[in-house]
Amino acid sequence: MQRYNSFTGYYRKKYGERLQKVVIDAGFTCPNRDGTVGRGGCSYCDNAAFHPSYSTAGKPLRQQIDEGIEFHRVRYRNTRAYLAYFQAFSNTYAPLPRLKSLYEEALSHPSVVGIVIGTRPDCVDGEKLDYLAALSEGLVLKDWEREIAGRRLAAPLVTVEYGIESCHDLTLKRINRGHDFATARLAVEQTAARRLETGAHFILGLPGETKDMMLDECSVINSLPLLSVKFHQLQIVRGTAMEREFAARPEDFVTFTLDGYIDFFTDMLERLRPDLYIERFAGEVPPRFVNSTPWGLIRNVELLRLLEKRLEERDTFQGALLRSGHVSRNFTVL
Ligand code: SF4
Repeated sequence: MQRYNSFTGYYRKKYGERLQKVVIDAGFTCPNRDGTVGRGGCSYCDNAAFHPSYSTAGKPLRQQIDEGIEFHRVRYRNTRAYLAYFQAFSNTYAPLPRLKSLYEEALSHPSVVGIVIGTRPDCVDGEKLDYLAALSEGLVLKDWEREIAGRRLAAPLVTVEYGIESCHDLTLKRINRGHDFATARLAVEQTAARRLETGAHFILGLPGETKDMMLDECSVINSLPLLSVKFHQLQIVRGTAMEREFAARPEDFVTFTLDGYIDFFTDMLERLRPDLYIERFAGEVPPRFVNSTPWGLIRNVELLRLLEKRLEERDTFQGALLRSGHVSRNFTVL
């Protein structure tokens, strides 16, 4: 019995074939760093900690994609179709003509069947989203076609993934996000309304948030028209403002042991709607970016195994508390 709605296998179920993301750095920056919204960025951010070595700004996109495919081929020899993942910084933060040129360049690679665009909620507008919707409906690249599992794909797959991080405005302010939650909700709603697959990222353990505050976020997340979510436990990256804040006020942070996090995320799952895909629930930045690795060097596959085991031990599942009516779906005050 599958006790939570894992994103692993989503593409295989939908298209009959496994798709692999290859990360690319298209040289974007971020309005929270260049002074447009703020300077210094979000207090936890060191973008270098979050993307692989083959994706480097300045390298031609085609080369990054080729190298990414080579990188993944070692593990997934039979994978033939890839999604170009615009991950570094804010990948809609440029005038539309530049965005078009970058996305369409990635989509010209013969093994790329779609794009995944990671961005901030305040870096989209109606014009950009309309273009992405038209792209996904086959109205932009007229002669474009690929094959997945022997079937013709006439339009690229397009997913937009927003960094939301917290549903609490006080937290967003404290971590210097430079946007509030209403902006995130609007972006998600406008994206999903255009039938674009929409994902979001959240961090668990941000300063000032108690476990109850994090659990309360589940009903807000449930109310968003999201296809998928990713969660990460907060990791304090060396040299960031967050590192200084943690040193000054450690009592403001909930920190998790590995076992405690598995248990806590099980609590989260019980409150998340069952149809929401869980793409990731934890992750480790490379050890060179952090001062300590309290969980040891645990691999993702082991984390997944621990979560599945805990769900079984507790005989529970995603959405369990919604079914029994223990959790209110009407979350209003944050
Ligand atoms: S929005 Fe993203 S890239 Fe920009 S500072 Fe925050 S975490 Fe870093």
